[in-house]
Amino acid sequence: MPVTAADLSVLCVAPTHLYRGWSLLPQAGEAIAHLGQCPLIVATPERYQALAAEFEAIAHDQSLSLAVGTFRGECSEATLAQLRQEAAQHHADVIIGIGGGKALDTAKLLADQLDLPVVTIPTSAATCAAWTALANIYTEAGAFAYDVPLRRCPDLLLLDYRLVQSAPKRTLVAGIGDALAKWYEASVSSGSRQETLIVMAVQQARVLRDLLFQQSLAALNDVGGTAWQNVVDATTLMAGMMGGLGGAQCRTVAAHAIHNGLTHLPQSKGTLHGEKVAYGILVQLRLEELVQGSQLAASARQQLCQFYEQVGLPCSLEQLGLQEASLGQLQQAATIACAPNSDIHYLPFPVTPELVLEAMVSTGVGYSAKVMDGSAR
Ligand SMILES: [Zn+2]
Repeated sequence: MPVTAADLSVLCVAPTHLYRGWSLLPQAGEAIAHLGQCPLIVATPERYQALAAEFEAIAHDQSLSLAVGTFRGECSEATLAQLRQEAAQHHADVIIGIGGGKALDTAKLLADQLDLPVVTIPTSAATCAAWTALANIYTEAGAFAYDVPLRRCPDLLLLDYRLVQSAPKRTLVAGIGDALAKWYEASVSSGSRQETLIVMAVQQARVLRDLLFQQSLAALNDVGGTAWQNVVDATTLMAGMMGGLGGAQCRTVAAHAIHNGLTHLPQSKGTLHGEKVAYGILVQLRLEELVQGSQLAASARQQLCQFYEQVGLPCSLEQLGLQEASLGQLQQAATIACAPNSDIHYLPFPVTPELVLEAMVSTGVGYSAKVMDGSAR
């Protein structure tokens, strides 16, 4: 295989420093001050308000000049333009992102654009955004627009289990769905690759999947317990590490492409990234069944449906809250998923919007009706 520019790109494997533990935010002042004296915080007003007292104490102890940027929940070009102005006015020398994937992506991309260090503080386990050197840009309406590779992973990742523990349980469920996709996508895009680091990434994705199969139920039944902590580490850290090792060559495939298409439907606004991705995994497996007649994909899909039913991930469009979507809207989502630059084309066979639509409406075929009528949620 010829060496391409992508093969030569720098791998962003991991954050420079990772602090993890219970109630560690109040102790993190020195590590933050080491990166800068004038932090600009990227968090929704409600999110910052909940932690304001702790940040003010840190600012006082470390003589930091804090400012809170304007962030209303969407990682969009307009949000970033506004934050760049605020960072300049404040003479910010470090960016701190606090929140879910969109707040963290905004903070990382802002820091990248301004060439400043960045601290990520996840408040849920819904994605691996606190770890990765990647940001997803959305429109103001919340539709996926494009992703941006960043020059490096965060300088400091603070995983405070106390913050993550207070997030709605549904965010962890979504994180499980997003992390599961690592295996189903990487094994398709890179499963036959021989290069050591890619083999390592793909195998890590498999271990990640098995860990989630084994511990997710226990984690959800005992929030704050050992299994919960293991699953939080899996969705926020291990999933990020796998992506870092795999680099640009361990690509997302159909599961994320389906997610991207679905974000263009207003009815999908109420569902989380990982919930749409989890459903997207089923669509991807269904495509493998429809095109290749893969029995392996059929049994993997049914195994996943069973797991989804146990943990509360959606197996069907109905469970994803899209029962009201018109055929035209579903066709639109399928068409966006099949756009020429979409990662769906890393599937080893050609796909069309018609085929994707067929897969989208049949994710539960062969699995018990109990799941498909929505009663499991
Ligand atoms: Zn994802």
